[in-house]
Amino acid sequence: MKKILVLHTGGTIAMHADEDGDVEVGVENPLNQAQFDLPAVDLDIENIFNLPSEHITPQHMLQLYNRLKDADKDYDGVVITHGTDTLEETSFFLDKTLDLTIPIVMTGAMRSSNELGSDGLYNFQSALRVAIDSEAANRGVMVVLNDEIHAARFVTKTHATNVATFASPISGPMGMITKRQIIFFYDLPKTMTYPIADVSKKIPVMKAYAGMDGQILSLFAESEHIDGIIIEALGAGNLGEDAARGVQKLLDADIPVVIVSRSYNGIAEPVYDYLGGGIQLEKAGAIFARAVNGQKARLKLLIGLENGLSSSALTNFLHEF
Ligand code: ASP
Repeated sequence: MKKILVLHTGGTIAMHADEDGDVEVGVENPLNQAQFDLPAVDLDIENIFNLPSEHITPQHMLQLYNRLKDADKDYDGVVITHGTDTLEETSFFLDKTLDLTIPIVMTGAMRSSNELGSDGLYNFQSALRVAIDSEAANRGVMVVLNDEIHAARFVTKTHATNVATFASPISGPMGMITKRQIIFFYDLPKTMTYPIADVSKKIPVMKAYAGMDGQILSLFAESEHIDGIIIEALGAGNLGEDAARGVQKLLDADIPVVIVSRSYNGIAEPVYDYLGGGIQLEKAGAIFARAVNGQKARLKLLIGLENGLSSSALTNFLHEF
């Protein structure tokens, strides 16, 4: 019989609505009472946190990493329940740090446990089905909700309230779940993982916009309080002239600047050769994180810096899909 470790961390999947319909955290996780229609499986359940996922920080992610880094010695798979608001970040952090081949599956819910059409138990059961599936190993961390399987690498929360909120704009879902089958559409190439022991680096994320002022970037450059910065740049990774001057100040102060696209879909890559264009930003020393959004690039830079990667290793890590 397969043995699965279940880690509950909180989120809407563990919450309930009160008589006014306001969603709140309860003392007892309703998932602890869950009954499933599953083949025989041995579940080891731990309520590691009971937090809304907005309260999850890299420290909590590190705690999950430490709990899981040797999980393959005792378990055939792992399911983590988590709030959906930062689920993509925790899944990505674990994907980039855990060197495991057993399935690690994360899930959550958009409707709390006692709301009409609650999706929590269903998603939890789907995640367990994926975790025990014979084809689920060697796929990195997966996110399972609403009958879809997504790679942590590409998944993002796309809708504030809809149950069909998770999507992988670049790659499409990695698989689907039907009543009787788990179907994987493609295999992803293995990517680099780095162990992690500390998460104290300070890395803000700034969003670019038409007319972005470079002054805020210069202030960061002067403050010496940050270890790196992510800029969600325009289109394929471009900035206005004033913002480009601010980037130069950051680079002059030896602060790593990572460029991603603020676009919802596509790859950031240097294309334009003028002040603020991607080619000039890269020539100046900014690093392109090609296939991730700002919140994921932040975690990649954090992991890279905490591992003391050389500038070329850091660039390769951020370039990688
Ligand atoms: N605010 C909730 C959370 O992330 C949303 C959810 O779980 O769906 O904890």
